[in-house]
Amino acid sequence: MTDMYAMQDPTTQFPRPPFPPQQQDGPGDIHKMDPAPDHGETSYVGFGRLPGRRALITGADSGIGRAVAIAYAREGADVALSYLPEEQTQAEEVAELVRAEGRKAILLPGDLQQEQYNIDIVDKTVAELGGLDILVINAGAMPTVDSIDDFETATLDEVLKVNIYPLFWMTKAASPHLKPGSAIIATSSIQGFDPSPSLAEYAVSKAGIANWVRATAQQLIERGIRVNGVAPGPIWTPLQPAFVPTEKIESFGEQTPIGRAGQPVELAPAYVFLASQESSYVLGEVIAVTGGMTLT
Ligand code: NAD
Ligand code: MG
Repeated sequence: MTDMYAMQDPTTQFPRPPFPPQQQDGPGDIHKMDPAPDHGETSYVGFGRLPGRRALITGADSGIGRAVAIAYAREGADVALSYLPEEQTQAEEVAELVRAEGRKAILLPGDLQQEQYNIDIVDKTVAELGGLDILVINAGAMPTVDSIDDFETATLDEVLKVNIYPLFWMTKAASPHLKPGSAIIATSSIQGFDPSPSLAEYAVSKAGIANWVRATAQQLIERGIRVNGVAPGPIWTPLQPAFVPTEKIESFGEQTPIGRAGQPVELAPAYVFLASQESSYVLGEVIAVTGGMTLT
């Protein structure tokens, strides 16, 4: 793998569909994905853009969160990793990669649907890393429901408890610790702007995240804290084979102007930019990393 700064054609830089048909049970395992996703393990190059920062990242074992954790460590940050207990092995791999950079990693397994867990992970991060400067609220659940006839209250409850409530729970718990210059970054989605028919519950939550970013950014800038979001397009992570029917996996990413799925490592620079002081005048923004699909 060449480093991410080698000039090349982005349309062929990473695998293009068709992908082999595949399915997994949630929350999914990166090691069962074919082709293997790229989280920057060998490709992300840091330039010390987050010196001495302390970051808490949810969904940090796999996919986008894993890529962000690796990138933050290479940019000079210590990292607290939140993930589901069944993802322990993958989270330990991320912790090893962070420690290989000479940075601290702490492991915080648990269920974000529990309010107390959201508070506890903030408190443990502050206690063990000596503070908190960057909060990446990234974990997500994405059930597909093809018809309103199959709508279930429990599905919407779960989507909102995983995707929306932690924005409020974690930010409330974190804000007393966040000094001016701190950053909060939430993961929205192209689905929050241009939804697919079978993702109504998810799309509602992702539109909500974008609007939470816009509202909360205006509140927290008074304390010198910037709040922004990232809206990924189709990204090759375990979320897809865990939630999307196998026939849709084969053509995954085909609908984008670039003609392929994104890799988790391709998201990391946006999260680094929004966390670092170089984005000092950017707030209330949701950056599209979508292979050319437009946020409407
Ligand atoms: P992923 O499966 O690697 O990450 C999702 C993570 O969410 C899991 O690893 C898990 O740790 C965490 N999670 C789920 N339910 C949880 C719970 N109850 N408690 C604690 N943690 C929980 O997939 P990903 O694609 O990297 O997802 C990261 C974010 O990106 C999600 O918010 C997702 O909606 C968003 N996103 C993904 C895509 C895509 O195509 N992959 C596109 C747009 C947005
Ligand atoms: Mg995972």
